[in-house]
Amino acid sequence: MKKPIERLKPKQGQHLRLAVQAAFVLLCLWIGWEFIRFYQTSLDPAIPPTPRPPGVEGFLPISALMTLWYFLQTGILHTVHPAGMVILVAIILMSLVFKKAFCSWMCPVGFLSENIGEFGKKLFKRNFVLPVWLDIPLRSLKYLMLGFLIMVVFFQMSAQDLRAFLDSPYNKVADVKMLLFFARPSATTIYVITGLAVLSLFVKNFWCRFLCPYGALLGFVGLFSPFRITRNDDACTDCGKCAKVCPSAIKVDKVKRVWSDECTTCLECVDVCPVGHALEVKAHRKFKGVKPVLVMTIVVLIFLLTTGFGMLTGYWNNSITPEEYSRRIQEIDKPIYDHNYGYAPPEPSSPQTAPGEIQ
Ligand code: SF4
Ligand code: SF4
Repeated sequence: MKKPIERLKPKQGQHLRLAVQAAFVLLCLWIGWEFIRFYQTSLDPAIPPTPRPPGVEGFLPISALMTLWYFLQTGILHTVHPAGMVILVAIILMSLVFKKAFCSWMCPVGFLSENIGEFGKKLFKRNFVLPVWLDIPLRSLKYLMLGFLIMVVFFQMSAQDLRAFLDSPYNKVADVKMLLFFARPSATTIYVITGLAVLSLFVKNFWCRFLCPYGALLGFVGLFSPFRITRNDDACTDCGKCAKVCPSAIKVDKVKRVWSDECTTCLECVDVCPVGHALEVKAHRKFKGVKPVLVMTIVVLIFLLTTGFGMLTGYWNNSITPEEYSRRIQEIDKPIYDHNYGYAPPEPSSPQTAPGEIQ
């Protein structure tokens, strides 16, 4: 075995990642808090409504995907959930640069899942890795869900169908529906969430690895990313530490470049490697490695610049007035707000630019 030649600054990537995760969790908690206040004040027309935080649309990925596809087909920016589309674009751009970096650097569900896994590791002294014969079929579940979604949205819905859905009463209050889903959980919801939390104690990132269709989309996009974990064969001592810590169970010590769709650029492998320059993030094997602090800076900048661009160009706040929200929230239990309520596409004679759109 070759001798280590240089010790890297310990856990630098993990400290930076934790700082970004913490900031993002705090941002999400603030958005959640403001959104609850918005909901409560909208229930009573006598109280001046608290402004709705547009960032809540980051939790509506399906509506965001439809808005994006509608825009790509028609060139029309639909304005019911504009911030959702902007956030989706930011996350896709991030994946085009650093694979599924959003999952390990920003996603609050990823953060929760990771920490439940860490807690499980303390309890059982280890996390469990499923055998390959079970792991592969389970991992394909998230791609099946993504495939179904893409088939419906991209191949079965025309631009008119998309517009009918985006303008529908359900879509207009989809964020409020999501809040009520968690605030008034059914027994099934409680069982499913508890089950996922328990499974995450044993298998790290259970939800992210096997079930999250958003992660599947980012994993697919990340296949085109130039920046990958790259192992320098000449420096590597084959100690295997990188593979041991990888939360995505990637055999980092056996490959020259990590191509796996499961890599989240979490940098755990880079941090644990005892040899300087044996493991780095690189755009090409012959290029210089990207330092963790630069990875963090680029990830954060992509998010801030994209969302900032949306805000500055006026494509952030939606077109629904506080009065309309108040009316819809008060009647939200009516059948027209069910997701499976039929939505008629607009009549051919109706204007191409509906009230909820800008061109
Ligand atoms: S290969 Fe490295 S960066 Fe990618 S998920 Fe595994 S530990 Fe994280
Ligand atoms: S790249 Fe992996 S196997 Fe090689 S020295 Fe670093 S931690 Fe050990």
